[in-house]
Amino acid sequence: MSRSPDCLFCKIVAGEIPAEMVYSDDLVVAFRDIAPVAPTHVLIVPRHHIDDAAAIELTDSPNLVALLTAAQHVAVIENVADSGYRLVFNVGDAAGNTVPHLHLHLVGGRELEWPPG
Ligand code: AMP
Ligand code: ZN
Repeated sequence: MSRSPDCLFCKIVAGEIPAEMVYSDDLVVAFRDIAPVAPTHVLIVPRHHIDDAAAIELTDSPNLVALLTAAQHVAVIENVADSGYRLVFNVGDAAGNTVPHLHLHLVGGRELEWPPG
């Protein structure tokens, strides 16, 4: 697993900064967003540092599949699998991306507007 110096989510993955863990496996960890926008708001991140969705390469395939299968588990754990939920990668400034370590937002537990604001 590669990590990036001073990366906030690499530090959470390493257990150096606390987070409220929801799920983890060999490839990913999932923890509650510190500023939730819905009753369920979980961030799913690869243990391996990848900058963002725009930096993904074909060799990252196992990490991407692991993010999505972890999302299935988190949805069940959080009891939103039946009601529905949204999965989001923010990329770049216009989308409000603030943490430069790939993370999949899982948001649910309320009606979600579409298109998003
Ligand atoms: P993004 O805007 O897509 O880059 O998402 C970054 C998310 O990380 C935001 O929703 C923040 O609320 C969340 N966040 C920032 N710091 C922490 C932290 N220490 N623990 C959990 N979530 C965090
Ligand atoms: Zn990182």
